[in-house]
Amino acid sequence: MLKDKILNSLMYVSLITIKDIMGKNGFNALLNFSGLAKYKDEFPPNDDKVEVPLPDFSALIKGILEIFGEKGARSILYNLGRRSFNVILEENPALLGLVGLGLKVLPKKKRIDKLYTIASKETNKIFGENQNYYSSDEGFVFEIYDCFWCKGLKTKGPICYAEVGWNAEAAKWATGDEHGVEEVLCRAKGDNVCKIVISHDPIKDD
Ligand SMILES: [Zn+2]
Repeated sequence: MLKDKILNSLMYVSLITIKDIMGKNGFNALLNFSGLAKYKDEFPPNDDKVEVPLPDFSALIKGILEIFGEKGARSILYNLGRRSFNVILEENPALLGLVGLGLKVLPKKKRIDKLYTIASKETNKIFGENQNYYSSDEGFVFEIYDCFWCKGLKTKGPICYAEVGWNAEAAKWATGDEHGVEEVLCRAKGDNVCKIVISHDPIKDD
């Protein structure tokens, strides 16, 4: 189960990247719409304390969905996921165990597996047990049974595109390659879990 508070850093990274994507006016309108005007001038600190109410984070994602519709929200959230990985890497890499992994000495598949294993363990520790990670014939798989991205949302299609983007960027950071990432099940559309599958092999350019 997720805790009722989330990591300050997740809210910080989400706010800063959404502001960057939408511009100041659009961002302020989103906050007003979502009942989150208190975050206009003051973001939570980018630290590892768990102090931001989960409902605030859920209201932010819901606001994006309601303003932009599912399709528009997907690209914003995907972008948010990709960018937030880099913000964490630049500003606070110890947060999800992204330092001292010794990835370079490993073959590429092992690098991704190690990174996902550690990030998943850290996420469970920080947010409350909410996911399983494993590698199988399907690919690298995350089964998220209590997902903070789509908590309380109802959608037609999968909506955890921030998770998709985050995992795509993580795989790229670990190996230099783009991997196919797909959310094949999503709680927001009525499935029991959010299931993200990342291809074992990189996407070929040709
Ligand atoms: Zn989800």
